[in-house]
Amino acid sequence: MRDCPECGGPVEATFHYCPWCSAPQRRKLVQFFHPHEELESDRAKALRVSRYFGRSEEERHVRFSVWNETGSAEAAVSLDEEEAQRLARFILVHGSPRPPRPGPLETVLGLASGGRRR
Ligand SMILES: [Zn+2]
Repeated sequence: MRDCPECGGPVEATFHYCPWCSAPQRRKLVQFFHPHEELESDRAKALRVSRYFGRSEEERHVRFSVWNETGSAEAAVSLDEEEAQRLARFILVHGSPRPPRPGPLETVLGLASGGRRR
């Protein structure tokens, strides 16, 4: 248990946000994303996204870095909060494309693909 730096309320050490005031309790959160499995050139890479929290505009940003199989970053760029939100909206609004619907003949003959893997 520790105290929230924002409101002083007690917060479990494993909590990412304060249950009393919703303030983030970590300076940054990191997640790795797998590359597209059918693109050969990206197979041994990963995208690391680090979200930095902070009180100032400068401290708050989202950093994207491309990591290779040797465990080093090949490139990185940071987006401010506004650009990060714009990126999130871009991905959400333009959601996953639907596979083309099979025609009647393909359906009858059972030629339609079985959908996505995974
Ligand atoms: Zn708090």
